[in-house]
Amino acid sequence: MRGVTFLGERRLELAEFPDPTPGPHDVVLEIKASGMCGSDLKFYRAVGGASSLGLGNVSGPIIAGHEPCGVVAAVGTAVDEPAARVGARVMVHHYSGCGGCPHCLTGWSQMCVKGSTVYGATGHGAHAPYMKVPAHTLVPLPDELSFATGAAISCGTGTAFGALRRLNLPGGDTIVIVGQGPVGLSATQLAAAMGARVIALDVSPERLARAKEFGADATIDPTAGDPVAAIQALTHGLGADMALDASGASEGRLTAVRGTRAWGSVCFVGEGGDVTIDVSRDMLRKQLTIIGSWTFSTVGQADCARFVTDRKIDVEHLFTHRWQLPQAAEAYRLFDRQTTGKGVFLM
Ligand SMILES: [Zn+2]
Ligand SMILES: [Zn+2]
Repeated sequence: MRGVTFLGERRLELAEFPDPTPGPHDVVLEIKASGMCGSDLKFYRAVGGASSLGLGNVSGPIIAGHEPCGVVAAVGTAVDEPAARVGARVMVHHYSGCGGCPHCLTGWSQMCVKGSTVYGATGHGAHAPYMKVPAHTLVPLPDELSFATGAAISCGTGTAFGALRRLNLPGGDTIVIVGQGPVGLSATQLAAAMGARVIALDVSPERLARAKEFGADATIDPTAGDPVAAIQALTHGLGADMALDASGASEGRLTAVRGTRAWGSVCFVGEGGDVTIDVSRDMLRKQLTIIGSWTFSTVGQADCARFVTDRKIDVEHLFTHRWQLPQAAEAYRLFDRQTTGKGVFLM
């Protein structure tokens, strides 16, 4: 089969890989949808891919794509029926660890004390017709949800949901969401569905227009003036109750911190880079809580799917581009501009 592999410095190729066969505890999925996530851009641009985000080193070409969704095509000899049956519609929790440490046992295998495989970064991902994963990574896809929706929940949308859950976002609160890429826009959509008032920030007018469509009450272009003053003008001079940074940019993180009111909470979810804050002024004097959130557990992924199903959230609307695998170079070139919505490969 042929799968997409990143070569670094914005180059990729469709390379030949052997068709996967399941080991005793594995399944092979026929991939139906494989999403493009913001963090794929880091791997696409970087020399050294996964190691650039501290995810470990890899040797040899790796198939990209960490938003897998499809149907079970083959199961290993030691896989029991409840875990996977041929034909089941499934998402993948795109990590695998030792299976026995406290993190693996609670569904957080990305935090495995012995290190974990990150599919699409350090293990073969879903930008290919087939993908082999351990059976314990499977999360059922509700019948009501499309494969593309399942792909989004497998990273971008699931990550947004996980961050909002970490914030315990109350429905009556105002939340600032910095960055309206796939994760930020999902957060806007989900936070609005949770009843919150959303103030969305992005440097792209296209993305701000989309944020409005997805339920943002107000939008701010941080390059048009002082974004903190703009947030305060919308919040009685106090700042937002909460903020979520999905930009991963230093200035974006600082805007999230400074745009939040006293006693508020800020969650960092964008990957990479750094931030410098004035601890006394920005944090202590404001009694501020700052938390980090890294994706979600298997349980959180299933919770997100349930929330999306029950609230009939139009996750498909996130996708502005639907591609076939041979179009991968064009797909990533366009995504790299960071002005469009989300892309997905459909098989
Ligand atoms: Zn473990
Ligand atoms: Zn991702």
